[in-house]
Amino acid sequence: MATNERVFNFSAGPSTLPVEVLEKAAAEMLNYDGTGESVMEMSHRSAEYKQIIEDAEKNLRTLMNIPDDYYVLFLQGGGTLQFSMVPINLLTGSKKADYLITGNWAKKAYEEATKFGDVKILASSEEDNYSYIPKFKPEDIRPDVDYVHICYNNTIFGTHCNEVPDVGDHLLVADMSSCILSEEVDVTKFGLIYAGAQKNVAPAGVTIVIVRKDLVGKAPANTPVYLDYATHAKKGSMYNTPPCYPIYIAGEVFKYLLKNGGVKATHERDVEKANLLYGYLDKSEMFKPSVAKEDRSLMNITFVTGDPELDKKFIAGAKEQGMINLAGYRTVGGMRASTYNAMPLEGVEALVAYMEKFENENK
Ligand SMILES: *Cc1c(COP(=O)(O)O)cnc(C)c1O
Repeated sequence: MATNERVFNFSAGPSTLPVEVLEKAAAEMLNYDGTGESVMEMSHRSAEYKQIIEDAEKNLRTLMNIPDDYYVLFLQGGGTLQFSMVPINLLTGSKKADYLITGNWAKKAYEEATKFGDVKILASSEEDNYSYIPKFKPEDIRPDVDYVHICYNNTIFGTHCNEVPDVGDHLLVADMSSCILSEEVDVTKFGLIYAGAQKNVAPAGVTIVIVRKDLVGKAPANTPVYLDYATHAKKGSMYNTPPCYPIYIAGEVFKYLLKNGGVKATHERDVEKANLLYGYLDKSEMFKPSVAKEDRSLMNITFVTGDPELDKKFIAGAKEQGMINLAGYRTVGGMRASTYNAMPLEGVEALVAYMEKFENENK
């Protein structure tokens, strides 16, 4: 591959970003907006940077229609630190929480939360290799829980909550790391939404937390300062040095999405891409989708041939054709095509064309 050519990168994260955003970042690399310096070198207390972070927050609020009674925080530590921060900050009443176990990340979140309170599994699809989203009724939730936690899109297995689960009057917390900004969500149905940015938004390093204001400020007094949402809420995500560069790129991605029809139009493009690939999987005799039809993810599309050697050959052949990172998660095997917002339709078209050719040649 010539150094000036781009591959179609199907990585689950860090993942592909819009070319237009990368080109703008490249053009501004040495001299951001006439400042004579890179955003990487800029004081986070400068007027220019203040504008960058404020615009990023404002544009995310517009894209997701986030009401004023929610904070938007830009934090570090990835989705993983939220597995700890959520229970530390929200287990403040009965200290009980129920978790829906739909994959590795959901389970990790649950295991971490058990350190901080009386945390139970609401339902799990672990025994079926997380191939579907388990159903539950609001009555299954313990009546006095402080919150219910779900993982909205299961990056590793390729399942997704195709509607917001009914949790009755309970507070709902969702990990949206791998689906944020790929569909319209009613933020008011959630007490807290978090998302590591490196799947659908920005390079690794920033994590978005959207939290209802009344939930913030109840963490125990001995909470480490960085782990208390109130610390960041009070200071506009500037208590300490924020992840400046990833926030800048996230901001550019937000502008790009707004320019291209917002979340609604983005979702339509995502559906078109996913339909193309699932459509082929549904008729292929070689490739089989890995998860229940009604719980399919738009962002992480998993499939197998049933023969690990053939899978390997397929993945290696794809790489030669400029389609990379199609191997399934290391503990799962098979294939996974992550079709995040920034994956162009042409990428999925190229993948499906290669699948057809591969199927014909390896009958
Ligand atoms: C990737 C991922 C995580 C972990 O994110 P880190 O930023 O690596 O800590 C958590 N949840 C989901 C759904 C993910 O896809």
